[in-house]
Amino acid sequence: MANKIKVELSLELAHQCVKCSACRSVCPTYSVVKEERSSPRGRLALAEAVVDGIMPLTEEVVAQWNECAMCRRCEWICPNEVEYKEIMFRARYMGNKELDKKDFVKTTVFTGLSMMGNLITKTAMKFAPSLMQAYGKLFKKEVPEYNAVFLDTGIPKYTKLIPKPTAKPFGLRGKIVKPKKDKKGRLLFFTGCMIDAFYGKTGENVLKLMETAGYEVVVPENIRCCGAPHLYGGNVEAFEKLMKHNKEEIDKYEFDYIVVACPTCGGALKEEYKYPVKDFAEILEEQGYITFKGNGEKVTFHFPCHSYTAMNTNPNTYRNVLKSIKNAEYVEGEQAMMCCGFAGYFSVANYEVATELQKRKVKDLENTQAQYVLSDCPGCVFNIADGMYKHSENYKNIKVQHLADYLAERLVEEETNLR
Ligand code: SF4
Ligand code: SF4
Repeated sequence: MANKIKVELSLELAHQCVKCSACRSVCPTYSVVKEERSSPRGRLALAEAVVDGIMPLTEEVVAQWNECAMCRRCEWICPNEVEYKEIMFRARYMGNKELDKKDFVKTTVFTGLSMMGNLITKTAMKFAPSLMQAYGKLFKKEVPEYNAVFLDTGIPKYTKLIPKPTAKPFGLRGKIVKPKKDKKGRLLFFTGCMIDAFYGKTGENVLKLMETAGYEVVVPENIRCCGAPHLYGGNVEAFEKLMKHNKEEIDKYEFDYIVVACPTCGGALKEEYKYPVKDFAEILEEQGYITFKGNGEKVTFHFPCHSYTAMNTNPNTYRNVLKSIKNAEYVEGEQAMMCCGFAGYFSVANYEVATELQKRKVKDLENTQAQYVLSDCPGCVFNIADGMYKHSENYKNIKVQHLADYLAERLVEEETNLR
């Protein structure tokens, strides 16, 4: 089957970068490694040299490309509109094809993601909550403050704070919620793998917020992973299969917008699938009359990279929503927009760099003295909670939450005057 996604790294694409170095100031990996090869410009120069035939495609070159978090902050800041994502996934595709180096863990992760939502994973996930519960109890690894267990493998890069799986994995599938009053439109909620598997409550809260905002929302029965991790990793065929499957499912429904609570899914649905997509926070900002009331707490926010890069959501959207909460103080970390170091498999494959970024993120969040650390990406929430547990002495007093959870808990329905 011919690829619908272009995979050839053309001379034209490879030569886009004029090497001004503006992107180095925002690149998380360069900020840690401090070597040109770990900067966007360095990675692009390697791609250019390979395409020009000046340099052979070696494992060392591919390792430099794979050391990138694909946060796309370089693309966001680049004054010359270099299409970094396009260049890098094609470079990785070329590396995967020509070197064909099998990485067992990587293959397992990507295959697992491809299978998310099929009968096998749905059946397997039914046992996950009780297995995790048993592991936590047996090995005394429960972390009740974070509703998680600490999976201690003895191998640092595979040692993680794992949220307890949602009681009903994939439980939102097929749900339809009706607006409380005057329907403003119809949304299709693309839940994403982490909400399906771990953060079902977050998904329910997105539905609650959207119905309060006046929207009917449908959750498709049979969606799979959006495929963004596969595309970013250069695994284009797997991405295309997932996109084909998801489009067939999504096109069965009528909707005005797809709504997301994960900007990586949202970015892929917008840029590759070409659907109209909104983040749930954008809808809340538009429907500015909803009342949220805090308890006098300080809150801070981590801006997921893909929210302002891939999704192109204005960061002020989050600020406006957070500042609208009554009786809560919004404080922003100095590095609130810097990558938290997760980026999926990146944090395993580049453990040292990812851990340094995670530690810096924890420090920056601690410096705000906020009691609540919020974000709008299940992956960032997962990684920041893991980071807090590992690197903060004060983790018991800091709650890490998805923005949807925090807001839904503070929704004052009687003060929310539906128009
Ligand atoms: S990617 Fe853009 S910002 Fe970075 S060096 Fe190239 S032209 Fe400059
Ligand atoms: S995508 Fe992020 S990590 Fe990769 S080169 Fe660009 S700024 Fe650096």
